Amino acid sequence: MPSRPAADDAVRSPIRALHQETRAVHVAAAELVGCRPLSVPLYQTSSFAFDDPAALAEAMSGPDGAFVYTRRGNPTVRALENTVAALEGGAAALATASGMGAISSVLLSLLRSGDHVIAQRCLYGGTFALFGELAERFGIEVSHVGGQDPDEVRRALRPRSRVLYLETIANPMTQVCDLPALIDVGRAHGLISVVDNSFASPLLCRPLEHGADVVVHSTTKYLGGHSDVLGGVAVFATEEQHLATWSRAVELGASADPFAAWLTIRGLQTLPLRMRAHCANAEFLAHRLAAHPAVRAVHWPGLSDHPDHLVAKRLLAGYGGVLAFDLAGGRGAGQMFISSVELASLAVSLGGVETLVLHPASTSHRELDEVSLRAAGIGPGTVRVAVGLEHRDDLWRDFEQALARCA
Ligand SMILES: *Cc1c(COP(=O)(O)O)cnc(C)c1O
Repeated sequence: MPSRPAADDAVRSPIRALHQETRAVHVAAAELVGCRPLSVPLYQTSSFAFDDPAALAEAMSGPDGAFVYTRRGNPTVRALENTVAALEGGAAALATASGMGAISSVLLSLLRSGDHVIAQRCLYGGTFALFGELAERFGIEVSHVGGQDPDEVRRALRPRSRVLYLETIANPMTQVCDLPALIDVGRAHGLISVVDNSFASPLLCRPLEHGADVVVHSTTKYLGGHSDVLGGVAVFATEEQHLATWSRAVELGASADPFAAWLTIRGLQTLPLRMRAHCANAEFLAHRLAAHPAVRAVHWPGLSDHPDHLVAKRLLAGYGGVLAFDLAGGRGAGQMFISSVELASLAVSLGGVETLVLHPASTSHRELDEVSLRAAGIGPGTVRVAVGLEHRDDLWRDFEQALARCA
């Protein structure tokens, strides 16, 4: 077969007589004229090529110039960052490989050895473990406070207090933090406030509006929303804070992968619709569960007997898709329930389209003894539900048959 001349417009090289190896390597993207892609393209590239050496040098000076190398920035990742920054009302955002990647990058950019952190007592397990590590290896001490009393923050202050770390809605008992009350104390004493907003999402709460300096998310949860991708994001009130954390994240290698960012963007586009449906399904189940004889108590911030209901009413635009309930039958009943559901799945995580159940005493919080469990508000028969988007009647039918076996 006669070899056809190289398609000149497919390669930049002026050399005509290219070998097959070279032609195979130099794939040129189609140029778009007079149109643009409707959805955000996936820039699955590790590096960006330059025609001008001076332009490359210029681009390497910071996060805001041309893209150089995907660990430092990528157009698909940037699209995700800009969207979440806009949703949270921040100046800039940094997307990371996971929620813990965002939390580690933020804390390691803010803290030096010998600093002091004031953190909420009920923390995501990974964050709690990170604080333990920071204390042991870098002498960064942590004092724990509840989420309601600003005086507790005042009493915990030390000369080296640097960060106030809070969660909008805590796992698994859905305590709601009085963000403005606690952040005001931190701000008055020069602390930087970081809020994990994963359980609320920017649809239900925007902590920056309550004075927070940094918001972190596990986008693995509601923002991605489909249990198919891991990711995190940190949103900053100021450009300066973004730049400081960006430098740390680039060094730590915590940056988001473009494909993960692309999947997250796809999920994010339906966040408002999904969040509304999660909240509505959770409300329905919370009321049904509260009226069931096998259930001793239901923990969901939308219920008027929830200890933080008034705070939730003031701060949240909806009460969230996570609830917990205590079975009268204790540990045995809890284990029976999670092994009896048929539609819901026994799994960690939350924020996806499918309903998940968990028995904290025997899984996520199994390392706590009865006293520590009680201190965290978790009972032996507590079940956590991450409510999904199935039809509510199907979910309740599944829960009812599982509850019948717990009597
Ligand atoms: C899951 C979760 C994290 C950690 O996020 P990953 O994406 O798993 O690293 C942090 N905070 C909260 C509240 C979470 O639910």
